[in-house]
Amino acid sequence: MMFVSPWRKDFPGIAALVAEGQTYLDSAATAQKSQPVLDALLGYYANGVANVHRAQHVPAERVTRAFESSRAQVARWLKAASPAEIVFTRGTTEALNLLAYGLEHMVQAGDEIVISALEHHANLLPWQQLALRRQARLVVLPLEPSGRIDLNAAARLIGPRTRLLAISQLSNVIGTWQPLAELLPLAKAQSALTVVDGAQGVVHGHNDLQALGCDFYALSSHKLYGPDGVGVLYGRGDALSLLRPWQFGGEMVRRADFDHADFHAAPMGLEAGTPPIAGVIGLSASLEYLASLDSAAVSRHEHALHAQLLTGLRARDGVQVLGEPHTALASFVVQDVHHSDLAELLGEQGIAVRGGNHCAMPLMKHLGIAGAIRVSLALYNDAEDLERFFIALDKALEILR
Ligand code: PMP
Repeated sequence: MMFVSPWRKDFPGIAALVAEGQTYLDSAATAQKSQPVLDALLGYYANGVANVHRAQHVPAERVTRAFESSRAQVARWLKAASPAEIVFTRGTTEALNLLAYGLEHMVQAGDEIVISALEHHANLLPWQQLALRRQARLVVLPLEPSGRIDLNAAARLIGPRTRLLAISQLSNVIGTWQPLAELLPLAKAQSALTVVDGAQGVVHGHNDLQALGCDFYALSSHKLYGPDGVGVLYGRGDALSLLRPWQFGGEMVRRADFDHADFHAAPMGLEAGTPPIAGVIGLSASLEYLASLDSAAVSRHEHALHAQLLTGLRARDGVQVLGEPHTALASFVVQDVHHSDLAELLGEQGIAVRGGNHCAMPLMKHLGIAGAIRVSLALYNDAEDLERFFIALDKALEILR
């Protein structure tokens, strides 16, 4: 059966890559942009730019309105209670660093910060460094062989010293949804704050933060088919007010003198300097485009492609898929073949997949591998993309084995 994406035509970047002989299967790294996103970016730049929140003139008012209505749209899309819960950042990485610095005052020596063994470096290093600064302890939740966090271990390891739990919703390496519905209450029972790294999960339909019930949620626009250089930190009202500013500069103060400053409340007080205006407007266009799609159809399409990917990988001798991926992506290793040799041979054949440690070096160590090849899918991929991938994979393996 062939799965053809009805949305592929909306992404000019895919047509351009195809014309170049490229099959793009690296959307977990960054996704192609839809035409409405490109139109929004050009529209913003071509119609006369202005800075936001800074002037009384007409262009500034127009851009400020567009910027703030983008904030409202992000809030609606995430089902946040209010636009005031949406802080714009430069990406997931900056959102998580903002948290690790903004919450530093709440972490004392001997406290525990809990993460898992499969976190991306963006959701590991900010907490590791916070723990080092405060003489706190970083506690790492182990995984089951499937790639899900071991809930029994979590129940043992999350305790009265736990100040904060930070977990990714969907693993960027294994493609497993984490059991957040069970994990977050364990942290809440200890009055710990909960942080969800939504960089991957938000792309694949899990964007209802009321249902999720976390205190903080981070995402990157560029993985959500939007522009790069912009991201979001969601903070539930009273949780967000715990954050102290981390970066300092223009537009985040009510009053400043040489020896004192009085900061705005969030979100303005956490957005120092000129924000990524075009990026925010482009992100909003991307969400508008995504909201116009039949989300059930997108989900069916992605699942069908994912099943085709897993079946094809598991049918091949010596190929071992990491864990039990649920959606969107799969990583694999091949017996007696180095991942970088394989990635190179795939790349030479125009297959854009990623080989390496996927910014999760401790996970690679945990799994006892040096690296893996990751194939990741988006709504614009077709069954034909995967067929081309498998032909190239077989050819590469014939050369390498
Ligand atoms: N967390 C996860 C799970 C990711 O996949 C990524 C991006 N690879 C990040 C965090 C970091 O996102 P960014 O580089 O856009 O800040």
